[in-house]
Amino acid sequence: MKYSILIVDDDTAIKESVEEYLKLLDYNVTSALNADEALKILNSFDADLVLTDIMMQGMDGLELTRRIKESHDTDVMVMTGYNAEYSYEEAVQAGASDFIFKPFRFEELDLRIKRVLREAGLKKERTKLLKKLEKLAITDALTGLYNSRHFFSQIKTEIKRYNRYSRALSLLILDIDFFKKYNDTWGHLEGDKVLMQIGKTINSCMRSMDTAYRYGGEEFAILLPETGVKKACVVGARIKDNISSQVFEPEPGKKRSITVSIGATELLEGEDFRAFITRTDKALYKSKDTGRNKLTYIVSES
Ligand code: GH3
Ligand code: MG
Ligand code: MG
Repeated sequence: MKYSILIVDDDTAIKESVEEYLKLLDYNVTSALNADEALKILNSFDADLVLTDIMMQGMDGLELTRRIKESHDTDVMVMTGYNAEYSYEEAVQAGASDFIFKPFRFEELDLRIKRVLREAGLKKERTKLLKKLEKLAITDALTGLYNSRHFFSQIKTEIKRYNRYSRALSLLILDIDFFKKYNDTWGHLEGDKVLMQIGKTINSCMRSMDTAYRYGGEEFAILLPETGVKKACVVGARIKDNISSQVFEPEPGKKRSITVSIGATELLEGEDFRAFITRTDKALYKSKDTGRNKLTYIVSES
């Protein structure tokens, strides 16, 4: 990978010699004679590192460093003379990753640049890994939907939002009908395929602001912010009908369909997440009790 470096120095001789040396080392190099020009260049030049003189006419290198760190994910290395009035501490406080005294040997500059770039690479890797881990921690491995831990955290967040902005919030809970029999007949692996397919179907039927969770073994929950129960029922019915129209083939030549039962409710004022879930569960059990492959909604306790 070819790294990009921007050199900023109002001393043309230094700027040109450093530029020439870094080009020889196969870096992609560009340069500026002052801080304003450097900031302009950075709008279009994706630099991995900015190597800037500190003492410059107009904006100095420390101020430039601060400005860069405010809006770019770029490392900055500052260059200064031994008797300059700038300290290492000031440079680090401004956000610089390293500091080099002029005059320097090019070999030393090269080593320092390599170290800064290596550390930046490691930091990026760490950030990427952390993001991946965070995503894994809230994802259900089988279906790719969010897991139940995330469900309980999100339902609380959404209820807080409801209380603050008085926007409707609905919940759907979905349970597969006679799933034990399907597993017992065709095996757990075939059951898992059904769960995966239902995950995909839910994802394709809900709207972009809705979030879906594998809430239990064969139970799913969908949170629908800014949505009244009637609209939530439209989404739920779409999911239910889509699932029942699909054909599963647990063994070659054996075609089967799957149905689900759904409960739907809308959050009531003053209700906490437990009561909200319990009421939705009640609606779900009504769907089960009255024949399955159904969607039932409850508006209030009465
Ligand atoms: P009902 O219509 O009343 O919901 O009947 P049911 O058979 O679906 O309900 P029950 O609660 O008796 O059975 C749920 C079954 O779901 C039991 C278990 O075999 C299956 N199940 C739960 N988690 C998983 C899973 O991760 N993978 C598979 N393949 N099956 C699961
Ligand atoms: Mg169940
Ligand atoms: Mg079930």
